Amino acid sequence: MTAKPEPPASAADWAPATRLVHGGTLRSQFGETSEALFLTQGYVYESAEQAEARFKNEEPGYQYSRFANPTVSMFEERVRLLEGAEACRATATGMAAVTSALMSYLSAGDHVVAARALFGSCRYVVEDLAPRFGVGSTLIDGTDIEAWKAAVQPNTKAFFFETPANPTLDLVDIAAVSEIARQAGALVFVDNVFATPMLQRPLEHGADVVIYSATKHIDGQGRCLGGAVLGTQKFVDDYLSVFLRQTGPSMSPFNAWVLLKGLETLPIRVKAQCDNARRIADHLGQHPAVTGVLFPGRADHPQAELAQRQMTGCGQIVTFTLNGGKDEAFRFLNALKIVRISNNLGDAKSLITHPATTTHQRLKPEARAELGICDAMVRLSVGLEDADDLIRDLDRAISAASQ
Ligand SMILES: *Cc1c(COP(=O)(O)O)cnc(C)c1O
Repeated sequence: MTAKPEPPASAADWAPATRLVHGGTLRSQFGETSEALFLTQGYVYESAEQAEARFKNEEPGYQYSRFANPTVSMFEERVRLLEGAEACRATATGMAAVTSALMSYLSAGDHVVAARALFGSCRYVVEDLAPRFGVGSTLIDGTDIEAWKAAVQPNTKAFFFETPANPTLDLVDIAAVSEIARQAGALVFVDNVFATPMLQRPLEHGADVVIYSATKHIDGQGRCLGGAVLGTQKFVDDYLSVFLRQTGPSMSPFNAWVLLKGLETLPIRVKAQCDNARRIADHLGQHPAVTGVLFPGRADHPQAELAQRQMTGCGQIVTFTLNGGKDEAFRFLNALKIVRISNNLGDAKSLITHPATTTHQRLKPEARAELGICDAMVRLSVGLEDADDLIRDLDRAISAASQ
């Protein structure tokens, strides 16, 4: 096997779209156009000496696909080039990425400060799981800079948040929060799923670790699960890699191969979805039966100025509230013909969910109220369909729901 990086070294000069098509490609002796899918658990060695050298890390090369695999390496390198990070590691899912990034770094006696508006499973990791292993956590309102400062303890080692947050699309000021973390000696972990790597670059605003669920926009076509963690070489070498190698939340080579193809079309998909989302947000914003629209690209978003400063696009999620409560929201969802009911997001298909009874049903009603999630709220992940078709579908279902 003579797989080698191709073309060599020039990726640094490439714009993101070019990196996403060619970056990280390892071409075998067969000269295949598309990235090869290496479905193998292990690797054979030329000699016992070579096996020894690989295990001692004295010679580059693969040993076992739980540690590394060429198709997964291609995915990691392509995401790394896009993000401009020193290092990237892929994981089986977005949650494997979150859990591995945090748990590889933290030890009993440490403390995490996290925004309380977190993806449900992320909130479980910091609120329920970490404390079981002696890692304390404080959940705060991530939009409140003073709250981050006030939550710091002498043992605070990590700040964790997502921006925009699910489902209310609240933003966290990455630069301001990173500055507080720096002074506290804590690392900043950002779940950048909602923004996608196309619209927000947390490392440039001072964050230390960026986490993705590749399941969402990177696949973008509803096929497989995956995750990625990006950070400094030091973070990956000293903490993450050994944790991944020994505990095993590895990305499958097949999924890496699908996700590599997803990366090729990521910029054009995200752009088309954002354009659709903006049109839909503006349409809903002037709809008499819609009582509120949350969309970072609109002037009436409470943090519109921060969105302008921190993001290069507004995202493809639109959250809105209907007149009424759960009954109206359910009637609306059930009347949709094109938009499908699903808690997933970032897909080519437009997907809608009722957060209070799905993604956030685990929370107590008071906790939901604290996050601004009401029974009349729905979260729409805008897909690649024709915007006029989507608007007609939404309008018809709103009428049906208010009857
Ligand atoms: C989906 C999602 C995750 C978890 O990703 P999986 O691939 O489903 O494990 C984490 N954070 C956010 C913001 C997400 O949307």
